[in-house]
Amino acid sequence: MPHAPRPPKDPSAPPFTAAVREVAPGSPAERAGVRAGWELVRINGQWVPDVLAYRRELERGEATLEARDPLAGTEVVFTVAWEDPGLEFEDVIFDGLRLCANQCEFCYVHQMPKGFRKSLYVMDDDYRTSFLYGSFVTLTNLTEADVRRILDEHLSPLYVSVHTADEDLRRDMMRWFRLKVRDPAATSVRGMIERLEPIDLFTQVVALPGRNDGEALDLTLAYLASRPNVQAVAVVPVGLTDHRRNLPTLRTFTREEADAVVARVEAFQRTMLRERGTRFAFLSDEFYLVAGRPLPPASAYEGFSMLENGVGMVRDFIAGSTPPLPAALPRPLRVICATGTLFAPVLDAALAPLRAVEGLELEVRPLVNRTFGAVTTVTGLLAGRDFLTQISPGEADLLLVSPSVLKYGTETLLDDRTLDDLRHELGMRVEVGGTNLAELMTSILSGHGRSALPQFGFSTHAVKETTGQH
Ligand code: SF4
Repeated sequence: MPHAPRPPKDPSAPPFTAAVREVAPGSPAERAGVRAGWELVRINGQWVPDVLAYRRELERGEATLEARDPLAGTEVVFTVAWEDPGLEFEDVIFDGLRLCANQCEFCYVHQMPKGFRKSLYVMDDDYRTSFLYGSFVTLTNLTEADVRRILDEHLSPLYVSVHTADEDLRRDMMRWFRLKVRDPAATSVRGMIERLEPIDLFTQVVALPGRNDGEALDLTLAYLASRPNVQAVAVVPVGLTDHRRNLPTLRTFTREEADAVVARVEAFQRTMLRERGTRFAFLSDEFYLVAGRPLPPASAYEGFSMLENGVGMVRDFIAGSTPPLPAALPRPLRVICATGTLFAPVLDAALAPLRAVEGLELEVRPLVNRTFGAVTTVTGLLAGRDFLTQISPGEADLLLVSPSVLKYGTETLLDDRTLDDLRHELGMRVEVGGTNLAELMTSILSGHGRSALPQFGFSTHAVKETTGQH
């Protein structure tokens, strides 16, 4: 059947608008009649692509805002002078998230099982969210105008996935699409780091055994340390799943290889510490856990600037004082703390003092990741089904889970099951244990988890955040 002809595009229609999530009571926007669900169309006569440009217009002092109700078509225009209009937006990016131009051999999105919510498959690579939220970007999709904007607006710091300073090796690992790259100059990581010299950069290397570790890693660390704008580099191991179809054959680090990476990076740290007073390079916890080495002390993380990348997370969790332990509980209590296989032995050792408390039956249950495959050992990638298949109904009074398995600000797990689903199917209380050891111990002893949901955890970029890969 022939398709009906498309109506011609309205040339006066805005290319993008900003959806309003909330309007502050008593604010200029509310007084003008703007309500949640409306759209901001223009500010000072311009369409603004993101919240950064919106704020920049407000910083001019006087601003004229045009908003409309998309359902009724009502439009209002109001002005503010050195005053916040009172608008909260659904997103910080109004013109669409910039997507990546690459097909990295280790990309987590490519090796995710099917069937999760769509947002988990978004291959974002947007320098604006890097500035706003600290997500890592590769810079390969930048245009000359983007670079100028970063410099003009001083969007600093940015978080950059370097992987290697060997340009040929980087191209081989990241295999960007020529047609998606808008400026070939953006594919040179050295060129971009040098061009962005006024911008502070936090960098990361996703390390693959036999690929960009060994001497290639030495060269990368030396190059990054030579650039004045590079503040630090996190080295994280590649994360793999059992769902790698038609992808290059990769493997994870063996114990010996992880040990060699730790030795190499710690030698570099010692030199840097001597010469500059900072370690500059930081290893993700996983290297120490796989190598079976003790974790560095908290001071070795120099303020935990790369915590979100799994660098120092375990040390941060177990550091700090713990609550006094009672000799006995007022009534018997069976508690399971379920966690990923990588962290379980550390947690088990940290909770050992609780085994002396009479009446408390405590178990740290390492959950094999059946969703992504046993090769995935981090806690943050456990899905609801992993809990449901490895914990039996009624076998405990309380199941405590890590906040890292939950979507930001919700009780929803990676596979859209909720803590309520777990409560219902397991017939026990299921709560968030806490964000550090002291909180977790308090939850165990009291028999109740944390009522306030922690303000972190996975978001739409869960997989990449959890694994630190991008
Ligand atoms: S790892 Fe990140 S940059 Fe690389 S292909 Fe995947 S989404 Fe793109």
